[in-house]
Amino acid sequence: MNNAQTSSRSPGQVKEITSLTNPIIKDLRTLHRKRSRDEQGLFVAEGLKLVIDALDLGWTIRTLAFARSAIGNPAVEKIAARAVANGGLVLQVTEKILSAITRRDNPQMVIGVFEQRYSTLGSFAGEGGSVYVAIDRVRDPGNLGTIIRTADAAGAKGVVLIGESTDPFSTETVRATMGSVFAVPVARVSETGFLDWRETFPGLVVGTHLSGSVDYRSIDYANRPVVLLMGNEQQGLSDDLANCCDHLLRIPQAGRADSLNLAVATGIMLFEIRRPALTLEMQEQK
Ligand code: SAM
Repeated sequence: MNNAQTSSRSPGQVKEITSLTNPIIKDLRTLHRKRSRDEQGLFVAEGLKLVIDALDLGWTIRTLAFARSAIGNPAVEKIAARAVANGGLVLQVTEKILSAITRRDNPQMVIGVFEQRYSTLGSFAGEGGSVYVAIDRVRDPGNLGTIIRTADAAGAKGVVLIGESTDPFSTETVRATMGSVFAVPVARVSETGFLDWRETFPGLVVGTHLSGSVDYRSIDYANRPVVLLMGNEQQGLSDDLANCCDHLLRIPQAGRADSLNLAVATGIMLFEIRRPALTLEMQEQK
């Protein structure tokens, strides 16, 4: 792609920027800070595939920035045209600028800046065999990103962040989701808000707890809505959250480790809860 080619399709829509001190770039560079992301309601997603997935799933793009080295790449040209058609600003920038925005030495050649989007708990209605993951005060962006990705892979319908949680739209979390942040609805709520919603939830609420007395494999999860409650990395589940569960489950362990990593435990639980539905899907594919 060159400016002349792009200009003929979308006059004046591709802006070439080479200076780190350009005000647009200065603004984009602030998005690594949560406060700035919250104020602007925006976040950065890195990589062509993620940007394509996001647009396919209807997310609103505000800015697309691509490196000079991407010029001539038909997929980048196509996504630039889509970004323009969706009202986004399209920037051709240097790799140094992409590095500065993403704070990476070897940045992706394409990044997208998208509007943040949260779901409401009210939209997690609990119909059919819907499964939701609710996490108490998750701290680690890598854990949260991995949980969102795993929830996507297991076919969960949403992720609920309870209390003070790490930002699902931080660069680290978005990276760890590998694009699933665009596919899995995320809601955030206070502990009290969650407990109120739990009263109306028509299905099973299971918590995981190191002192749980029930083996996680002994429950029949089939054909009912399920909320899986996971605890904070350091403190586990709060007492009130633990008390609101129908069952407190434990994943049996051997060896010296006193607990599993939060994201690993969530993965084990999700694939057990979704096992009947996933087994059925597998059989139907044969
Ligand atoms: N020190 C914390 C505690 O006492 O709960 C450890 C928390 S653990 C790192 C994070 C979360 O992963 C736990 O709150 C629980 O939800 C889940 N988890 C980890 N290992 C588990 C196990 N063996 N059985 C059930 N849940 C587990």
